Amino acid sequence: MDNMELIEQIQRVKHEKRVAILAHYYSRPEIQDICDLLGDSLELSRAAASLTDVDIILFCGVNFMAETASVVSGGKKVLVPDNRAGCSLAESIKAQDLIEWKERNPGGVIVSYVNTTADVKAYTDICCTSSNAVKVVESIEPGKKILFLPDKNLGAYLKLVTGREMEIWHGDCCVHERFDSALLFKMRELHPNADILVHPESRCSGDPSAHKMDRVWFYSTSGMVKHVERSESKEFVILTEREILHQMRKRNPEKTLFDAGERAICGQMKRNTLEKVYQALVNESPQISVDPETAAKAIVPIKRMLDIL
Ligand code: SF4
Repeated sequence: MDNMELIEQIQRVKHEKRVAILAHYYSRPEIQDICDLLGDSLELSRAAASLTDVDIILFCGVNFMAETASVVSGGKKVLVPDNRAGCSLAESIKAQDLIEWKERNPGGVIVSYVNTTADVKAYTDICCTSSNAVKVVESIEPGKKILFLPDKNLGAYLKLVTGREMEIWHGDCCVHERFDSALLFKMRELHPNADILVHPESRCSGDPSAHKMDRVWFYSTSGMVKHVERSESKEFVILTEREILHQMRKRNPEKTLFDAGERAICGQMKRNTLEKVYQALVNESPQISVDPETAAKAIVPIKRMLDIL
C-alpha cells in the first residue's frame, strides 16, 4: 500500500475499533499528520488519563511513554507500532539501582523525570516532565534532600535555576547529550538574529554561560512550540529532536527555523512508521501493559506530577 492507502485504512480501522492515536512531537511527520493528539510527555500523559470515548490507545512514541499511558488510562488497551522503541534515559536506571540509591540516602525525596520505566516510577515520590520540572522541585519542602533521576543534564539545569541542592543520577538522552555549549555558541554565530530555544535535557543546560547569552530560552517541547507561535522574531534555532520543526513550520509558514542537523535525530522514535501503525491497529499488537501491582504504585507519583501545572 502507498501512504495514501495506508492513511485511509488507518482511519477506517481506527474508527471501527474506537482507537485514539497519540503521538509525540518527535514522531515522523506522516505520523504527526494522522494522529488525534500530538504533544509532549506531559500533554500526552494528561490526554491518556482523560480519554473517555475510546477503548484503545495507540501510542506513537517510545515504550516508557506507552507504559505511562497504560498506568493512567484506567485499563485501556495500549498499543505501540514497535515495542523495540526504547530510550537511553529510561534505560539508564533500573528499580534495583533506585532502591540501593534510596538506602544510601535515607529521607531523600525521589524526583523522577517521566522518562523512566514504570518499575522505577513505583519507587518514586513525584514525577516531573521538562514542562513542570522547576515547579515540581520548588514544591518540595526546603531543606529536604532531593534525589533527581535519571537525566544529569536536566538535573544540572534544575540545580542552576532553582538553587536547590540535589543528588543527580548519571543518565542522559543520547540525542540532547550532543547539544553542548560549543554547539550553542556556534549556532549563535551562524544565526545572530535568531531566537535560540534549547531543551533542558541538552548538555549545555547546566552551563551558567549558556544562561547568560542573549535571546536563548530553555523550554520543554511544547514550550518551544508556543514560543515560536508567540514571538515576533522571524528566525529560530531549535535545539531538540528535529522532527518538532514539522509542526512549527505547519503552524508558522512565514518563519525560518533551523535545527542541529543529523545529530538531532532520535532513531528510537523513528522506529514507528505508518505501516507499523496500520499493522498494530489490525493485529491489536504489540501491546504495552504494566502489572497491576507496579501500576498501583507508579500511578501515585504520576498523579502528583499531573496535579502540578
Ligand atoms: S529523544 Fe532522547 S529522551 Fe527522547 S525518546 Fe529519544 S532518547 Fe529518549
